[in-house]
Amino acid sequence: MKITDLKCAVIGQNPVVRITTDEGISGLGEVESSKSYLKPHVLFYKPFIVGEDPTNVERVMLKIRRLGSFKPWGSAVSAIEMALWDIAGKAAGLPVYKLLGGKVRDKVRVYNGGVRFPMSGNAPEDYAESMAKMKAASEGFTIIKQGIGFHSPMPRAVPDFFYGELQKGGFHANRGPLTERGLKHVVACVEAMKSVLGDEVGLALDCGPGWMVPDAIRLAKAVEPLNVMWLEDLITGDYVPYVLADLYREVTRSTSTPIHTGEQIYLRQNFKELIEKQAVRIIGPDPCDVGGIAELKWVAEYADMHSILITPHGVLDGLIGLAALVQVCATLPQNYIAFEYPVGRPEWWYDIVEGLPNPIVKDGFIEVWDTPGLGVEFNVEAARKYLQPEDADFFDEAAGTANRISSF
Ligand SMILES: [Mg+2]
Repeated sequence: MKITDLKCAVIGQNPVVRITTDEGISGLGEVESSKSYLKPHVLFYKPFIVGEDPTNVERVMLKIRRLGSFKPWGSAVSAIEMALWDIAGKAAGLPVYKLLGGKVRDKVRVYNGGVRFPMSGNAPEDYAESMAKMKAASEGFTIIKQGIGFHSPMPRAVPDFFYGELQKGGFHANRGPLTERGLKHVVACVEAMKSVLGDEVGLALDCGPGWMVPDAIRLAKAVEPLNVMWLEDLITGDYVPYVLADLYREVTRSTSTPIHTGEQIYLRQNFKELIEKQAVRIIGPDPCDVGGIAELKWVAEYADMHSILITPHGVLDGLIGLAALVQVCATLPQNYIAFEYPVGRPEWWYDIVEGLPNPIVKDGFIEVWDTPGLGVEFNVEAARKYLQPEDADFFDEAAGTANRISSF
C-alpha cells in the first residue's frame, strides 16, 4: 500500500487531516480547534510521506517526527500519526487499540474539561454554582477540572491579584508573584468548589502557567486538606516551549498535593527529565501535541515505571481526536486515571461524524468500540456543506485512484 495524498481542511475550527492510499483506504486525524492556522504546516509534510507504506507507521514517522516541536508545532505530526494508525487498522480489519498492544480496559474514564456553563462572576459562590451544574451534567463525570489563578479571569477580575503588570493580549500570558489577597481568593474558590463536590466527584485545578515557585508551594500546601486530584501547569505548561523540571521537582517535594504538567510537551525525550527526576506526580500529554498516540503510549509506560500517573489532555481535540484518545487510553498501563473529554464545537460536528456511541459518555466512562481503525468516519454528504470552497475536493480520492472502492 502506498500513500497517494495528504490533505487538510479546516472544518469549523479544527484542521482535519486525511491521508489517501492507492488501495482506496483513507485515514483521519485532527488538530485542536485553537489552531485553525495550522493547515499550511500540515501540508508541509506531504512530500515527506507520499509514496510511503502507511501501515509501517513508525517508518513513516521517522521521516517527519524530527520536524516538529512543542505546542503548537507538534500538532501536524501528531494528526498525521493518527491518520496512519487509522489506515493501518482499517487495512488489518482491526481497531487501533489492537495494533497498540490490545486493550487493558473495556471502558475508559474521562474527566470534564469542556462541558461548561456560563459563570456570573469570579467569586467563590460563582465557582460553587458552576461546579454544581457540572456535577449534575448528564455525562456523570467522576472528575471535573476547573481553571483558577493564571488559568482563569482572576488576574484581571480580582483587584490586586498579583504584583505583575496585566498583559493585554494573549492566552494565559500573565505571570508573576501573587499578593496575599490573590492567594486567599484562589484558596477560597477551591474550598467553595470542594464544598459542592465533597468526596463524590474529584476536583482537578488548571492553574497556569505563570506561578512563581514560592506561591506554587504555598497554594499546594494550603489545599492539602482538600485532597484535590492535581494542580496543573503551575510553572510551565500551555504554550510554554520548555519544561523546567527542577522547579517542578521542588514544588512536588514540598507537598502531598499531586503536581501535574505536560500538555504542551512534544515527544518522549522531552518527558525524560520530568519523569526520571520524579518532578511531578501526574503528566498530561495530549495525543494531538505529543507526537501521536503511539508516542503517548510510550510516555505512559515510561511514567508507570516511575510511579507517575497519567491523565491525557484533550479538550480541544475534536471528535476524531476523541476517537484517538479512546483507542490509545484503552491500552495504557494502570497508572491511567482519565483523559480530558473533547467536545465537538460547533454542535453540528455531532451530525457529520459517525461511529461514536450515543450517548458518548455514560456514568463518566466511554465504552471502547471495536470497529476497524479509529472507528469514526465522516458522513460525507452531511460534512460537505461545512467545507470551505478551497477544500471542496477534501473527500475526493487522489487522481488515478478514484475507481478504487474501499471495503470499509
Ligand atoms: Mg491545561
